[in-house]
Amino acid sequence: MQQRLTIRIQPQDNVAVAVRDLPAGTVIENGVAARDPIPQAHKIALEDIPQGAPILRYGVILGHAKKDIPAGSWVNEHMLDLPESPALDDLPWGTNLVPLENLPDPPETTWMGYRNVSGPAGTRNLLGIVSTVQCVAGVLKVAVERIRRDLLPKYPHVDGVVAVTHPYGCGVAINAPMASIPIRAVRNLIRHPNFGGEIMVVGLGCEKLTYDRVLPPEDITPENVLTLQDCPGHDAMMDAILSMAEQKLQLLERRRREELPLSELLIGMQCGGSDAFSGISANPAAGYAADMLVKGGGTVLFSEVTEVRDGVSLLAARCVSPAVRDRLAEEMGWYDQYLAASGVGRDANPTPGNKQGGLANIVEKAMGSIAKSGTSPIVEVLSPAEMPTKRGLIYAATPASDIVCGPCQTASGIGLQVFLTGRGTPYGLEICPVVKVCSRNELKSHWFDLIDISAGDIVTGEKTIAEVGMELFHFILDVASGRKQPFSDQYGFHNDMCIFNPAPIT
Ligand code: CA
Repeated sequence: MQQRLTIRIQPQDNVAVAVRDLPAGTVIENGVAARDPIPQAHKIALEDIPQGAPILRYGVILGHAKKDIPAGSWVNEHMLDLPESPALDDLPWGTNLVPLENLPDPPETTWMGYRNVSGPAGTRNLLGIVSTVQCVAGVLKVAVERIRRDLLPKYPHVDGVVAVTHPYGCGVAINAPMASIPIRAVRNLIRHPNFGGEIMVVGLGCEKLTYDRVLPPEDITPENVLTLQDCPGHDAMMDAILSMAEQKLQLLERRRREELPLSELLIGMQCGGSDAFSGISANPAAGYAADMLVKGGGTVLFSEVTEVRDGVSLLAARCVSPAVRDRLAEEMGWYDQYLAASGVGRDANPTPGNKQGGLANIVEKAMGSIAKSGTSPIVEVLSPAEMPTKRGLIYAATPASDIVCGPCQTASGIGLQVFLTGRGTPYGLEICPVVKVCSRNELKSHWFDLIDISAGDIVTGEKTIAEVGMELFHFILDVASGRKQPFSDQYGFHNDMCIFNPAPIT
């Protein structure tokens, strides 16, 4: 089979993406010869594009040519102007609501999870020890090592113990309006579905983030909260933590996985280190899996405000009500202001790695990013770290930063995250498993034991989006059910809980 050289997404596109490095002179599918060497994943002009004319990919204007671009040229980030950011007022809503029956059927409709009294089920059975302030992080690190060594072996039905330490809690403007975001994140992390409703919160004693800000009065008990300044010295401190941990482990030990409907599963999607293939292979395959989960009654979050901002009209068209559309516009508008306050524009994204991977600007990145949400209607929009109240596809507004989006979605209660990457990252989360999917086979060969699934066969034409989507769907259910471990968990590659704090530090 003659391997294809370029991919054009929509017939009206005047650029295509190189499937592999194309030497100058290579004649591509439409008969045009490359004038320059075209790096893999970068764009080649399919026709002469005059100065000021739109550059089209995904049928969408990525920007306008800064100068004449002859057919066969390499079209990179220096050759186009960024179009104006789309307005947020009066976005048409609900003009593209795909009926549920048109979504692909899930091949499996149940999974094995840990049922909770309310909310989504757990994918793991973990003891979560949440700090109210960074000052206690060192103590918790040592205590968790001791819990793992001395206590966990006695509780074979508990999967692990996690110290949820984070930079928040003191030296912060706790009453600033935006402090509601990090406070909500800590509050919701305490309630994470993988912690089975067992509360263990460790504070110092003089911090600003007091227990009453993260727990209701009935939960602030000697069984649930521990203040290190009350402990007389090192040994007493360790004894107190280990003894509270043991009480909780005894309760967690009783939990068992049971067969549950997909409606009990909540997962998140995010991408990082994207390239121009992300929107062709990995993200649409993830979108296909998302569609099957939603059809089966499950809930899927997608996020990353700066990456979808330029495609906001496409998302509004999928909102189920004007109220959901308004929430979407509100979150986007808030983020516009957050960036503007520091004189930063949306061109702060993409990263140099994205550009090296062929993404010319944020418009191109947005189209690829949105592909991971599939096609189903958006039933709810969440502020950062909020928990969902609906089932189905949900837009959870978070920063696009991988290490901040992860904790935000975790606070929203995801039991698993699907992470799409083009460039590669060893990223992982300790509270919930992260499944990594790459956009091209070269990365899978290079990082064969770090990337779980490659969507690269879609690029080469050897597999369809549906085939890789199906493979990913089965893998998601296997990991959620504890039958498989993604590579990041096998190695213990877990990133810090960098919770989002847009409020001032004092
Ligand atoms: Ca990201």
